[in-house]
Amino acid sequence: MKLHVLGVGDAFSQQSYSTCFVLEHDGFCLLIDCPHPIRKVLYEAQAPDLGQLDAVLITHLHGDHCSGLEGLLWFSRFALGRKASILAHPQVLARTWERLAPGMDTVRDEAGQPHRLTLDDLADTTELSTTSAVQVGPFSIEARLTRHHIPTTALRISAGGRTLAYSCDTSFDPGLLEWLSVGDLVIHETNLGIHTPIEDLLAVPEPLRSRLALVHYPDDLDVEGCALRCLRAGEVVEV
Ligand SMILES: [Zn+2]
Repeated sequence: MKLHVLGVGDAFSQQSYSTCFVLEHDGFCLLIDCPHPIRKVLYEAQAPDLGQLDAVLITHLHGDHCSGLEGLLWFSRFALGRKASILAHPQVLARTWERLAPGMDTVRDEAGQPHRLTLDDLADTTELSTTSAVQVGPFSIEARLTRHHIPTTALRISAGGRTLAYSCDTSFDPGLLEWLSVGDLVIHETNLGIHTPIEDLLAVPEPLRSRLALVHYPDDLDVEGCALRCLRAGEVVEV
């Protein structure tokens, strides 16, 4: 699997786009989270463009993870002439349209007549599961709810005998870390407040420690001096 790192920042960053990725395997491109302005984010990372993406996975409905959905869905409809494909946990999908509807539930035709839209008009949706793997293209995707303000999913995504594990937003959770630890690459968030303190991740022993990589870190993290690997935007990682 090839991982394009698009952004590594948190919601308040001056320096980085919000944390998101494209995971690519066998010609299938999966966008993992979708902050605004997603097309520019993809372009600057020299990652596949929106038209080359096969699906978008939304981990949760905080804006730094999903604020680009409106742009992605309009681009799919008007520029690509097709529905997008959205993957998310049922509790995330249940409220996705509630977040989008005020800006998206009405379009006018050339005669000025309004037409109502629903999410089904704009996207095909697939529910992730916390009890079984869901197959999407070449990827087998497992989900687990994290410790966060709103329903949020950590992920294990496998293809070609390799596994990418991603904590997404969470407080420090040893049970989650154990669940993630089967990953060949384990991407973990770190930040202040209710996020995971870096000290807890610095204390993780080998052999997991050398497979850990940090994202969602604050601007003032000393990336050069950090004892753990810090991913950077634009990086392409072979998982
Ligand atoms: Zn969040």
